Amino acid sequence: MSKHYKIALLPGDGIGPDVTEEAVKILRKVEKELDGVTFEMDEFPVGAGEYLKNGSPLPEASIEACRQADAILLGAMGIPSVRWPDGKEMTPQIDLREIFQLYNGVRPIYLYHADDTPLKGYEAGDIDFVIVRESTEGLFSARLSQSDPEKGEVCDVMRITRAGTERVCRAAFEIAQKRNKYCALVDKANVLPSMVFMRQIFDEVAKDFPDVKTDHIYVDAASLFLVQRPNTFDVLVTENMFGDILSDLGAGLIGGMGMAPSADIGDNCAIFQPSHGSAPDIAGKGIANPIATILSAALMLDWLGDNETKRGGEAIRQAVAKVLSNPANRTSDLGGTVSTTTMGDLIVAAITL
Ligand code: ATP
Repeated sequence: MSKHYKIALLPGDGIGPDVTEEAVKILRKVEKELDGVTFEMDEFPVGAGEYLKNGSPLPEASIEACRQADAILLGAMGIPSVRWPDGKEMTPQIDLREIFQLYNGVRPIYLYHADDTPLKGYEAGDIDFVIVRESTEGLFSARLSQSDPEKGEVCDVMRITRAGTERVCRAAFEIAQKRNKYCALVDKANVLPSMVFMRQIFDEVAKDFPDVKTDHIYVDAASLFLVQRPNTFDVLVTENMFGDILSDLGAGLIGGMGMAPSADIGDNCAIFQPSHGSAPDIAGKGIANPIATILSAALMLDWLGDNETKRGGEAIRQAVAKVLSNPANRTSDLGGTVSTTTMGDLIVAAITL
């Protein structure tokens, strides 16, 4: 039976369009090889550039297109000089997570080659863990609150709800069950009441997953341990802001932001995007590393969930591993000279299905 998937593409700002283009190339190649799978891929405008053109960083028509799509692939958003009158950057990618309740922020951290980690003694596959970042509440929920600096005080509230914590912990345990059956909560329960609450709910949910070993790690200690012994982790679940920070740390362990994919998953909708931002410092130079976005497209194929798309996701990861096994195949962020489009072409050529 043939399957037709509608993919909404949101290339966005900065390096977003460049890296999205490479991911589309890969998806076209995979589509050719898979049995009975077709992708309908259409682009929709979002981002700070769109705000400059038409007055909104997230037009209603783009939101509706996302609603109609089977999955969404996003490049990157934001231009530092384009801000709301209160000084904050435009972040339609965060708005989308909230609109579609994409609570399960999955950030796999996987080392493809020993050359790409700043740590000594780690070979390909030795660093292999997943950060599950709660993506609809936590400290980020304060971002839309009103503040009056004139009063000499501004507070950001860390919002932790029972429902929000239960669903993200459940998602993390389900991921751990499919991996090495070890799930650690990263919190700050020694200081913050919201984190004591989160820990209590994590422990309750854990009872439904008796086959998964659990742990609690304070976020400051987690930053230390992830550098000292990243090989000992499997799944780490945490609130929004801690997850934001630890995912950049995780990316640093495997070669940088250009290597870290992500999936923001809800109950019936998901957005796939690199963990990096729009990287204005290298935008338009043709040197961005497209691997994070290409690996995000692989996560999308996993999530679409039929045997053929899952086969496609795995083929993409194998192609990335094959290309990176040759140390000459590196973009400039990894110390090489390969351009964005050449990296895409190398991965297309390495795909076998
Ligand atoms: P945001 O807050 O929007 O997530 P950020 O401030 O974390 O963004 P990024 O845009 O992720 O910043 O970039 C951080 C650094 O990593 C920059 O120096 C950037 O050039 C580099 N970088 C990010 N993505 C890539 C990529 N795909 N290829 C090469 N370098 C990248």
